[in-house]
Amino acid sequence: MQMIEAAREVLRQLSLKGFQAYFVGGFVRDRLLGRNIKDIDIATSATPAEVMSVFPKFVPTGLQHGTVTVIQDGHPFEVTTYRSEAEYTDYRRPSSVSFVQDVTEDLKRRDFTINAMAMTSDFELVDPFGGQADLRDKLLRCVGDPGERFREDALRMLRCIRFSAEYGLRVHTDTWKALRDQASLLQHIALERVRAELERMIGGAKPSQALRLLYESNLLHFAKKPVAIPLSRAEKLFAEESAYSIDRMDDPLLRWAWLFVHSGVRTEQLRSLLLRLTFSKAVTKSIVERVDLIDTVDSWEDQQLTAAQLSERFKETSLRFGLETTEAILKLAFTYEACLTGKVWEQLRIQGQSWIAEIPVWGLKDLDIKGNDLQELLPNKQAGPFIGLLLDRLLADTAAGRVPNERDTLLERARDAVEQLVERGTQG
Ligand code: ATP
Ligand code: MG
Repeated sequence: MQMIEAAREVLRQLSLKGFQAYFVGGFVRDRLLGRNIKDIDIATSATPAEVMSVFPKFVPTGLQHGTVTVIQDGHPFEVTTYRSEAEYTDYRRPSSVSFVQDVTEDLKRRDFTINAMAMTSDFELVDPFGGQADLRDKLLRCVGDPGERFREDALRMLRCIRFSAEYGLRVHTDTWKALRDQASLLQHIALERVRAELERMIGGAKPSQALRLLYESNLLHFAKKPVAIPLSRAEKLFAEESAYSIDRMDDPLLRWAWLFVHSGVRTEQLRSLLLRLTFSKAVTKSIVERVDLIDTVDSWEDQQLTAAQLSERFKETSLRFGLETTEAILKLAFTYEACLTGKVWEQLRIQGQSWIAEIPVWGLKDLDIKGNDLQELLPNKQAGPFIGLLLDRLLADTAAGRVPNERDTLLERARDAVEQLVERGTQG
């Protein structure tokens, strides 16, 4: 059964038992906009215990704040009891929630007017704060007093920037003023949550707009730890109609890399910034490698390389960074053709793909010679660090096309290297 039909059934079941129930939140907003629906949240006058008594299949996912996940026809729905949030003590969570009987009370605690609407099972709108008009006027504003709302929960400031960028909304003057006034409260928000919001901004519909608002509000400057990106250096990424605009790229990791390339944050500094932002080690590595590879290609421009030398460099470098990163950067070269100029980038656009296709080995497992073979060549026939180094060199030579991936030729080359080593050894 379709998700929406299943959700309507949940509303009907609740009302059959005498409870009120509505669609709320993102579903209502996205339906009014004709956007794709990802999930459907439901609010009800029934208490969690009552909800659990109505439905045979459920998971008590968040009882302390009134949420039961109901499984209807195979679809999970978060069903949350109407609540009002009494006191916020630490700028991030209500110190107590109390269940209420009126849907308007529940909508009042929500962050923005466009998120504070409800719908009946027949899609009749309940809109006490003018969310529909704001959507039409492309306006984002807090429900109630914006300063108070940001003091209650400072994460809302990041959500404000995210929703503005994602939905192309202008932030209402009062809401924006409050955000700028309260920016320092971001220090109370866990960096995991800051990172999650940033990821949604950068991966979203219009990261350029998000970056502009982050820049103008100086919000990241106030995070718990130093995670501010020097956005003043990256203005061309969010200038109107810029060839550098970060919006063009579809891979979020490349968007991040493009951002750091232009804000001038590099390897070690970048790695620690990303880790402080609680990115995983794997994602951190991917972003850092993308930045490094762009820098590496840039550095070839001044080196007057011949086409053959460039091909070798490129192939060796591809091996070092791996196929995925290399292909990502090639894609970047095409997307940002107007920004990545110069002979080297031009060559990569013409030849890069075929150079990649010519690379015969991407790892030691592809190499037609193994560590044991090399051990045999050594005078003492013992394993040691030299074997690893030699294998790496043979791998790079093979990737670059200086040697074919053939056992006999590779053995030959290895024998030469061993001889050189022994000679050097006997010379002291
Ligand atoms: P999306 O899922 O696309 O981010 P959404 O509106 O569904 O959008 P959620 O974070 O899933 O956002 O939250 C669901 C609803 O809960 C929101 O629409 C809003 O009404 C309310 N809400 C969520 N977070 C907050 C918050 N920090 N302060 C006040 N209300 C909130
Ligand atoms: Mg949602």
